[in-house]
Amino acid sequence: MPTFTEKQFSSILNKKKLIDSWFWDRYTINPYNGCLFGCVYCDARSGRYRMPEDFENDIVVKQQAAEMLDLRLRRARTLLPDVVGLGTVTDSYQGAEKVYENGRKILEVLARHAYPVHIATKSNLVLRDAPLLDAVGAKSWCSVSVTITTLQPEIARFLDHRSPSPQRRLDTIAQLKAATKHVQVGLLLIPLVPFLTDDVADLEQMFQAAQAAGADYLIFGGGMTMHDMQARWFLTRLQQEYPELVPKYAELYQFTPGGAVYDGQMAPPAAYTQPLYDVLLGLSEKYGLPWRMPRFIPQDFRRVNYLVAEKLLNEARLRQMRGEAWETFFWAGQNIQNLGESLTAVCKRGELTKIRNVRGAIKNLVQEYVGLYTDTAN
Ligand code: SF4
Repeated sequence: MPTFTEKQFSSILNKKKLIDSWFWDRYTINPYNGCLFGCVYCDARSGRYRMPEDFENDIVVKQQAAEMLDLRLRRARTLLPDVVGLGTVTDSYQGAEKVYENGRKILEVLARHAYPVHIATKSNLVLRDAPLLDAVGAKSWCSVSVTITTLQPEIARFLDHRSPSPQRRLDTIAQLKAATKHVQVGLLLIPLVPFLTDDVADLEQMFQAAQAAGADYLIFGGGMTMHDMQARWFLTRLQQEYPELVPKYAELYQFTPGGAVYDGQMAPPAAYTQPLYDVLLGLSEKYGLPWRMPRFIPQDFRRVNYLVAEKLLNEARLRQMRGEAWETFFWAGQNIQNLGESLTAVCKRGELTKIRNVRGAIKNLVQEYVGLYTDTAN
């Protein structure tokens, strides 16, 4: 039986130094610690998140989360509205939400303050909040990503048996699309679980299903990560259900099978992921499903900065997937993202190269984008 423990925290809104270049969030809020869905591969099981010891049964409910957020946003002098990732570590629509409604109350506050929101979830409970999400979207920007890692019922039973079935999650995409006008709804095919969810025919089926559900995007990748306690948990369960795969995992992640501590790699090597990315990029094109979601663009001095940063960060990801040099694009994008003034003004002063990593071909590209976006603004 799950237990819920209410606990007061000193802060609820976390501001990140770098935005998430996949989901565009600048801020994160997690209404609960621990997750009743208990997915076998869940990265939040690793030690760095400091979750309850019984991650999938002991759920910590953050007390007065909405009130604290409201106070924080009302008193904020230096915060600018930007994307809030709701439930970035653990699912904000897990079973605890039915009882405590922390996520819903937080959404109400964010809607009031016109903060844009991204939610990643496996739960159809998100449909309960469709009108509220639509209000957020109408005021600023709202995106909901429904995670589905496999459509195979047997594999889903192993990976995430406590979540709604894959079909129910597909229905959630279709229903949320039908119930809202201002919400982007997409599918997250994350993570790719080696030897279980990476079959090419299965991947194509996922794209077909996403397209049929009316998804606005399908974001995929990366190869499942493995960290300390989470890796041990996953490998124990793998040994129980798919023992024949353990040696293949040991070879892929280079760990010592049966070791007391996980001593392998954090992610599968590029030799494994790159051919998969080629397939996935091809499917993305074939089914007309973007592999990135259009981002929130503020209408203040950050407008052109965000548009240009989006281009550079997406290019960085594409290069990373193709095994090309990507880091300079990534850091140029993040540094432009973090500029405290208009990029157009910097460009007009001829000072683009004062921004770190903006040099050579990237500087020319930035100049071109600034011209493009500044012209359309005027
Ligand atoms: S739903 Fe998400 S947060 Fe919850 S256990 Fe599964 S992967 Fe982890």
